[in-house]
Amino acid sequence: MRAVGLHADVIAVTSRVYATGCVLVRSGGEAFCIDSPVFPDELEILPAMAAQAEFNVVGLLATHADWDHLLGPYAFPEAPLGCAESSAARLINEPGVAQRKLREFDEEFYVERPGPLSLGASQRLPVPGRIEVGSQELEVLPADGHTSDGMAIWIPWARVLVCGDYLSPAEIPMVGFSVDAYLATRARLEPWVEEAEHVVPGHGGPIDGTRAAAILREDRTYLEALPDAALPLARRTGAQRKIHERNVRR
Ligand SMILES: [Zn+2]
Repeated sequence: MRAVGLHADVIAVTSRVYATGCVLVRSGGEAFCIDSPVFPDELEILPAMAAQAEFNVVGLLATHADWDHLLGPYAFPEAPLGCAESSAARLINEPGVAQRKLREFDEEFYVERPGPLSLGASQRLPVPGRIEVGSQELEVLPADGHTSDGMAIWIPWARVLVCGDYLSPAEIPMVGFSVDAYLATRARLEPWVEEAEHVVPGHGGPIDGTRAAAILREDRTYLEALPDAALPLARRTGAQRKIHERNVRR
C-alpha cells in the first residue's frame, strides 16, 4: 500500500490490488475516509496511519457501491457510512452482493479476513450537494455510467477530485451501466478536472490535473467510437482488452 500527501488535509492511499484508491480528508479536527484499500493488512494499518497523521476519522464515504470500495468498516468499524442515494438504494436492492463478491475475491486469492463485511444502514446523501467536514465542505456530483449509482467528490480547498471509477490511468472506461450516462458523467467532471491539482481515480493511483484532462479526452474518443473503438495507447493490455470485449458485448 502506498500513501501520498496531496495537501496538508488530503492523503491518497493506493491498495496493492487493482491500485484501488482511498482518500483521507480532514478539516477542523475531523476527517472522512473515502473508499478503501482492499487487503486485510492494508485495512488494519489504516487507522494507525490516519491517527499518526492526525486525521481523526469520524465518517466513511463511498464513491459507489461496488464491493472493492466498501471495505472501510474493517478499518473504522465505529464510523457511519455515507453514500449517494443511488448507492444506498443499490445496497438495499442488492442485499449481500458486495459480501458475496468480496468472498469470491478472497477465495480466489486465499485471503483471510477477521470477519464478514458488515455494512449497516448507510446514510443517504443528496447528490448533487455538499457534505460538511469540520469547517469546510465537500462538493458532490452524480457519477453513474460505470455502474447505475455513485458520486464524485470535490475537495475545493485542496483542489483534489475523488471521482470513483472514472479517469483511470490504468483502466479503460468499464461501462457496466450505460455509455450515455458514462459520457454525461465525463462531461460533468470536466470543470473540476480543469481546476484540479490532483485527481484520485478509483483505480490507478493519484494523477495530476493535466494527466486527468488527457485521460478525459482519450475516454471520450474511446466511448464515442464504441463498438469499433481502439484502446487508449497507454492502456492497451490483455486485461484491458477483456474489459473492452465486455463493453462491446453490452
Ligand atoms: Zn472499482
